[in-house]
Amino acid sequence: MGTMLNRRSFLQAAGAGLGSLFSLEGLSAAVQTSTSPHGRPKLKIKDVQAVPAMGALYVRIYTDQGVYGHGEAVDSVSGGVPIVAGFRWALMGQDPLNVELLFERLRTSGIFAGAQAGQYVSALTAVEIALWDLTGKAVGLPIYQLLGGKTRERIRIYCDSGTNNRNDPKAKEFIAQIIENGFTAAKIDIDDGMDPDRFDRVNWTANNLEIEHMVDKVAFLRESLPRRIELAVDMHGRYDLGTAKRMARELEPFKLEEPVPPENVDAMRDVRESTSTPICAGENLFLRHGFRELLEKRAVDIIMPDIQKCGGLLEGRKIADMAHTYYVPMAPHCQASPMGTMATCHMLAAIPNALVLEWHWGHPAARTVRWKEFVKEGDIIQKGFITVSDRPGIGLEMNDEAVKKNLRPGTPWFTA
Ligand code: MG
Repeated sequence: MGTMLNRRSFLQAAGAGLGSLFSLEGLSAAVQTSTSPHGRPKLKIKDVQAVPAMGALYVRIYTDQGVYGHGEAVDSVSGGVPIVAGFRWALMGQDPLNVELLFERLRTSGIFAGAQAGQYVSALTAVEIALWDLTGKAVGLPIYQLLGGKTRERIRIYCDSGTNNRNDPKAKEFIAQIIENGFTAAKIDIDDGMDPDRFDRVNWTANNLEIEHMVDKVAFLRESLPRRIELAVDMHGRYDLGTAKRMARELEPFKLEEPVPPENVDAMRDVRESTSTPICAGENLFLRHGFRELLEKRAVDIIMPDIQKCGGLLEGRKIADMAHTYYVPMAPHCQASPMGTMATCHMLAAIPNALVLEWHWGHPAARTVRWKEFVKEGDIIQKGFITVSDRPGIGLEMNDEAVKKNLRPGTPWFTA
């Protein structure tokens, strides 16, 4: 009987006009009314709210049945609140379990509004992750289960070192904490626009002394860390091609991130072809489309999308799958809170080619109250790994009261 009703309601939706059926709106209406009732929850979105907080954008999607989903976006989130408000027309009254449909509808409807990259995609990312959290809660499953199941129990985390300089009085303490906390990998930033020996603040060519200083930072960390802890190096895309090639040659035993900006894929490939140092890029690229040329031209050894920014969890999985056909692993950039970090871990648990995940909420000494109290489950990093949650959705409960204490005075909060 259910099937007949479904078919009838599908036809009724189609009866609104063949033209509307073949539009995304028409398809959406048809899917809404023809969904199978075989134990599948039927929810409707009743509110969408966004809050700018601590350099991030938090989104909550509420339903008519009490359950809600929480998502987070980072970095490219200025203006995120009005962008999410602009998504309401496509979300209100819809079935939140049709994540791909809602994502695609918002993406394609924004092609003249910047939906190719940047703030638009990051706002969409927070919505996408909230929909996955909501779907997981509605069906009682962790998100990794909805993305294909688990290929690993725990995700390896690498630690931003917090220091790169042998003259830093805190260096010993920070490095000791990387080791004590059980991390198996660390990363340092070596680019320095304020190097006193720099000739020119705008030109991108590093001189001999600047190169020496950068190499010394790497040497210092390498000699301070035990061999089992791998070391990666970030140049933040701030140098030109000649400097990038010199540094790649100097750093052949290490992994090097964005020696040149990623927009010119041919230049990135030039660097990669000049060296045996593994080259990694992608923290400022968006959607599958942002990674296609990088992979096709074999310009990188490792990709590093930020999953809280590049399109979300299913888009992240699609990027990973595309990379896997080129035998390229994924090591995501991550600036997120414990909620966003765990969301990324669900995606990494599902893909075969996960390498390691960044942890960057300050340096090791900043394994702070802010990090540890952000969710009610406490510190999610144990001995350099995060065990992916088996609870429904993201599987963590945000400690709203603790988070609110860290907000700038006057910041609005969720009202539902
Ligand atoms: Mg980076």
